[in-house]
Amino acid sequence: MSSPPGQAPDVLATENQHLRDRIRQLETELSSARAGMAEIESALRTAQSTLARRTAEFETLFRSIPVGVGLSWDPSCRDIRINPAFATMLGIDDAENASKSRQDGDALPFRVLKEGQEVAAEDLPMQVAARTGSDVRGFFYELVRHDGVMLTEYGHATPLFDENGTVSGSIGVFLDFTELRHAQRELERANEELRRSNADLNHFAYGSTHDLREPLRAIRIYSQLLARNAQIQADTELLECVNTIGDSATRMDRLLRDLMDYIQVATRQNKCIEEVDLNHVVSGVLSTLEYSITEANAQISCPQLPTISGYPTHFTHLFQNLIGNALKYRNPNRATQVRIAVTESEREWTFSVADNGIGIEPAYTGRIFDLFQRLHGREIPGSGVGLAICQRVVQRYGGRIWVESTAGTGSTFYFTIPA
Ligand code: ADP
Repeated sequence: MSSPPGQAPDVLATENQHLRDRIRQLETELSSARAGMAEIESALRTAQSTLARRTAEFETLFRSIPVGVGLSWDPSCRDIRINPAFATMLGIDDAENASKSRQDGDALPFRVLKEGQEVAAEDLPMQVAARTGSDVRGFFYELVRHDGVMLTEYGHATPLFDENGTVSGSIGVFLDFTELRHAQRELERANEELRRSNADLNHFAYGSTHDLREPLRAIRIYSQLLARNAQIQADTELLECVNTIGDSATRMDRLLRDLMDYIQVATRQNKCIEEVDLNHVVSGVLSTLEYSITEANAQISCPQLPTISGYPTHFTHLFQNLIGNALKYRNPNRATQVRIAVTESEREWTFSVADNGIGIEPAYTGRIFDLFQRLHGREIPGSGVGLAICQRVVQRYGGRIWVESTAGTGSTFYFTIPA
């Protein structure tokens, strides 16, 4: 075979070979590009079907959720799409553009009020969220529908952003709060009534208890006179009877005084809350109990105590009852020891009054804080009111009171006062 003029035959063959190689390479690239296209098409189909599913899900949720929803893809919120729940609240059709900012917004058959004043369209929550790009949370409005029904609506509005981060509308969620608002007002009214009737009751109970003490005074005085006569006449039988009457009257008087304290703890005080130095309170209590402390030959230890906001009488009741009981329910076979302690945590103070007295059976440790609950007979005097007073005081401050005890070994009473 002869070569074209001017070209060497092997140069041509090499060029041909290059061309064939290039065509093969192009064919390979084309087939891998086709495979890539098919992959992209399949991914696109998956994305389209996911989008269709999500849209259907959103649409179902939007239409069926029993919460009012408004949606606007317009930064001025001139066009607001609403779901059926919101349409029912507004008293319009859900196909209607519910925006008060639309050109004929005034023609919409509902009014939006805040504390009785009509709210301007641009101040409505969805409009504000779209204008400012910030959430409008926890708003309350009154809605007056065309049929005259008035509703309380509560909700949140949130701005919507496009892919460039620009505000392009807003979404609002609205709840019909009418029933709840009514119920809340009713509850407040009932609470106020209860407070008033409780105060009346306390007042009545305090007055009656006070009046009941008056005839007891006469009984005690006359029984003392009679006892003196019986002594003169050496009438031991009469003396015993008269002393029993006198003792009963004294016990009854003690009970009534404790009851008056109990009632007073629950009564609202006209005095202002003050800073109470508990070191003063405890030293006052210890001097009141001086006789019992000496009689019991008791050792009492008390650390530095804090100053707390409250009523001084409340803390006097608390410490006097707890320390008084520690002395009263002592074990006569050993030296009485009473230890007061306090710990502080972030939320509360925890106080304790520990004794080495006769202790309490575990079965009774819950009951003793109830009114008139006593575990002992007349051999140890008492009215069963002291711990009920302590419980009432502690509860008034939002604290707790409890006892840990081992019968025969001693008891520790704890109470907390929120910091
Ligand atoms: P009172 O002492 O007037 O009976 P309280 O309400 O103070 O009434 O106490 C109720 C009961 O709890 C007491 O009757 C007693 O049985 C028991 N109690 C209270 N404190 C102690 C204590 N420190 N040790 C043992 N028992 C106690």
